[in-house]
Amino acid sequence: MKEIILIKNGEIALKGLNRATFEDIMIKNMRRRLSVLGKFKITRAQSTVAVEPEDEEIDLDEAVEILKKVFGIAAMSRALVTEKNLGTIQKDAAEYLKDTLSEIRTFKVEAKRSDKSFPYQSPEICREVGGYLLSKNPHLKVDVHHPDVIVTVEVRDFAAYVHAGVIHGAGGIPIGSSGKAMLLISGGIDSPVAGYMMAKRGLILDAIHFVSPPYTSERAKLKVLELAQKMCEYCGTIKMHIVPFTHIQEQIRQHCPEDLFTIIMRRFMMRISQRVAKASSCEALITGESMGQVASQTLKAIACTDRVCSMPVFRPLIGMDKNEIIEISRKIDTFETSILPYEDCCTVFTPRHPRTKPSLSMVEHAEEVLEIESLIEEAVSGIEVETVRL
Ligand code: ATP
Ligand code: MG
Repeated sequence: MKEIILIKNGEIALKGLNRATFEDIMIKNMRRRLSVLGKFKITRAQSTVAVEPEDEEIDLDEAVEILKKVFGIAAMSRALVTEKNLGTIQKDAAEYLKDTLSEIRTFKVEAKRSDKSFPYQSPEICREVGGYLLSKNPHLKVDVHHPDVIVTVEVRDFAAYVHAGVIHGAGGIPIGSSGKAMLLISGGIDSPVAGYMMAKRGLILDAIHFVSPPYTSERAKLKVLELAQKMCEYCGTIKMHIVPFTHIQEQIRQHCPEDLFTIIMRRFMMRISQRVAKASSCEALITGESMGQVASQTLKAIACTDRVCSMPVFRPLIGMDKNEIIEISRKIDTFETSILPYEDCCTVFTPRHPRTKPSLSMVEHAEEVLEIESLIEEAVSGIEVETVRL
């Protein structure tokens, strides 16, 4: 029996005239991800995208697992492809759904007939297929209100499809439909989640990571590369920019008040990130900040960091609790890596009493002693790039 995957794209369906553009991007992303399994035919007909394996050996379970991580797909169903003949539909449906139906008590049949030349109307299809399934499964009852399983029969132009049960997709909109942004990634729990959330809104991600050797180790850098690797499953290929940050941190420590160290450091991170972002055609920055989580994430501190940026800064976690963030990091499988105990450049030089309500004038005044431009130039010229892909 021939089986395919039918894709239900959630929000894309609301895009009106742009729908085809969004769907094209989604299909391109699906094709790229599925290519590791072999050849697939992906077709779009009557507002549904169908994925058909072209190789006998392809395991549809694996294809479903991959597609569950492609943004733009709200839900999908594995479906049997059969002939447009009522008798064949009945027999094939009973055979195809044998295991599913043996495990449940109630069901109902829904029919969609987009081929209006098919000689039975939808209510008749439901009645005939339902009756046949009941005759083969005497333990079942029809329940039109709260069935355990809904069996769907779709009669289309070239074939009929039978499916039961919906598989949740990743939701969101396809990566590449919103442009590109630069994620400030640390080794922590938050920033990978922030990147995932913005990729879900259609952004291609580049990432930037600040290291302070010898205060931070090679292992710490590898940990961040591993996080990016895990993010790839949802977010696609990520180009990582690794910035040497030691000299800047040492300069701040030597010349600026200790309680402003973190905020000044964060302003440098933002300035450098924005510069690298522009050079990489990114149009926004993304951070994993969450309101009030630490001293550098108070409203006043965020206002001070924002002042050095002219591009939009997205902080998708701003209103989330740590528990909610952790839940997502477990879902995308970055949590276990994030909690490995390697140092981050932010934690190496932590002031004993960071100022939680810095004023901009105070911060700007404290920065005056630093050669800001040349420090930035020096850091940017030392950037190493690593491309992380699946
Ligand atoms: P995370 O869990 O993402 O590390 P956090 O709660 O530890 O976040 P901070 O250390 O204050 O918070 O960092 C806030 C944000 O700044 C991070 O979410 C990340 O976007 C960015 N950031 C922090 N350290 C680095 C770094 N070494 N390189 C790049 N970005 C960083
Ligand atoms: Mg951190």
